[in-house]
Amino acid sequence: MREKPREFCGIFGICSRKHPEDVPHHTYDGLVSLQHRGQESAGIYTFKDGINNQLAGHKGMGLVTQVFSNKSILDQLGGNVSIGHVRYSTTSESSIANAQPFLLDSPQAHFALAFNGTITNYLEIRESLKSEGNTFQTDTDTEVLSWLIASKTKETGSYVEAMKESMKILDGSYSMVLLNDKGELYAMRDPRGFKPLCLGSINQYAHVIASETPAIEAVGGKVISAVHPGELIKVDETGFERERVANVQRKALCMFEFVYFSRPDSFIDGKSVWDVRKRLGRFLWKLHPTKADYVIPVPDSGRAAAAGFSEESGIPLAEGLMKNRYVGRIFITPKAEDREILVRLKLNPIRSVTEGKEIVVIDDSIVRSTTSRFIVNLLKTVGGARRVHLRISCPPIIASCYMGIDFPTRRELIASTRTVEDIRRQVGADTLGYMNIDGLVRSIGMPHNQLCMACLTGEYPLNAPPQLELLEATLGSRTQ
Ligand code: SF4
Repeated sequence: MREKPREFCGIFGICSRKHPEDVPHHTYDGLVSLQHRGQESAGIYTFKDGINNQLAGHKGMGLVTQVFSNKSILDQLGGNVSIGHVRYSTTSESSIANAQPFLLDSPQAHFALAFNGTITNYLEIRESLKSEGNTFQTDTDTEVLSWLIASKTKETGSYVEAMKESMKILDGSYSMVLLNDKGELYAMRDPRGFKPLCLGSINQYAHVIASETPAIEAVGGKVISAVHPGELIKVDETGFERERVANVQRKALCMFEFVYFSRPDSFIDGKSVWDVRKRLGRFLWKLHPTKADYVIPVPDSGRAAAAGFSEESGIPLAEGLMKNRYVGRIFITPKAEDREILVRLKLNPIRSVTEGKEIVVIDDSIVRSTTSRFIVNLLKTVGGARRVHLRISCPPIIASCYMGIDFPTRRELIASTRTVEDIRRQVGADTLGYMNIDGLVRSIGMPHNQLCMACLTGEYPLNAPPQLELLEATLGSRTQ
C-alpha cells in the first residue's frame, strides 16, 4: 500500500574512447543519481572488446550501493561501453528474474537492454512473437520488447533498422538503452516522449545517455540535449549519430515528471523542474489565496512549490515538518503494511514553528488521501497548529496510469469518486485548494498537446484506445 505514484525505472548508458576503467564506475555513479526512480533492483552490463565480444553483467536486489557494495565487482566488469538500470517493483514482481538490464542471448541477436516505460500493446506483440516460435522466460513487457528487436534484427540484418521497425509496432511509453555484442550503444525514446531521456558528453571522449540530466552531471559530463521524442541515437567509439525516426504531432511528456518524479535539479526537454515547481506554487497562490503565518512544504517534494507560493504571497516560508531521512528505505518497501506508523516515523512537526499558528501546507499531490490526512492531523494535534490550509500543486488525480508508473487502481484514487469538499473534510484541513489544468500547463510552459495528463483527464494519448479493464488486470496487477 503506497500513497504516491512511483516511477518504475531509471536508465543510464555510456560509451568511452578513453579511460575504460572509469566506465562501470561512471555507470554506478549515474545510477546512484537516478536512485529516486527505482530502489528495488539495480544492474549494469558492460562490453569488453576482444574478449569474445562478451557482455558482462551484474545485477541484484536492493539499492545501487547494496548491489555493488564491493568495488571489485565494478573493476571486474571493466569494458568501455556500459548500460545500467534501477528499478522499482511491487511484491508480485520483486524478483531478480525481472531485474534489468535484460540480457537476450539468442541466434537472432545478443544484447542487453534497459528500459523505462510500459508497452501497452505488449500482449498482442507477445502472441505474434510466440506464433513465430519465440519462447518467453518472464511475463514482462521488457522481454517482449527485447524479442521484438531481436526478431527485427534478424529480418533486417541491422540494429538501426530493427529499432526503427520496432518503433512502428510499439505503443505506450518507452525510453531505453541497448548495448549489443559489437559494443554499440543505442538509445531510443517513444514518439510521444512520455519518459525523459537525455544525451551528454564528457570532455569529448565519452557520450552518455541518462533518464535525467543530473546523472550526466554526476559523472562530470555536460548535457548536449534531450533525446527527442521518436529519436534513435547510436553511440560508438567514433561519436554519435541521431535520427528522428517518428515525428508525431501529439506528444505526451508525463506531467508528473515535473510535479513529482524527477529531481528538482533536472532539466526535462529543456525545462527546469525546479522552476516549473516554483511557478506551480505561484499559481496556487493566485488560485487559492489565504491568510496565514507561514507557508510550510511537505518535504521534500513540496519544497519548490512552497518557495513559489511564499514569494508570490509574501507569507514567510518555514520548515514546519522535520523529515527523518533514514526511514526512506522502509517507506518504499512494497510489503509495508502500516502506513500511518511509517509516516509518523518519517515526519514530525517542528512545534516552535507551528504552535498556535495558521499555516499553509504545500504538497505535490493527493492520491488516496491517507498521508494528507495524517499530516494535517499531525500538525494540529502534535504541532498545535491553529488552522491548516492545504494546497496541492497537481490537479485532482482521477484516473490510473498505464504508461509505466506504479499507480493505485482507479477506484483507490480519492478524487475519482469524491468532490474537493469531501476530500477536505476527509483530510481534516480548514481549506483545500488544488492546482487546475490551465495552471499546470502554463507552469510547465509546454502546449497542452505536448503533455500526458491522462491521470487528470482520463484521456490516454495512445495509438489504440486502451482497453482499461484488460490493462488494469495485467499491467495494473503489479500495482496491487
Ligand atoms: S497518466 Fe499521469 S502519471 Fe501516467 S504518464 Fe500520463 S501524466 Fe504521467
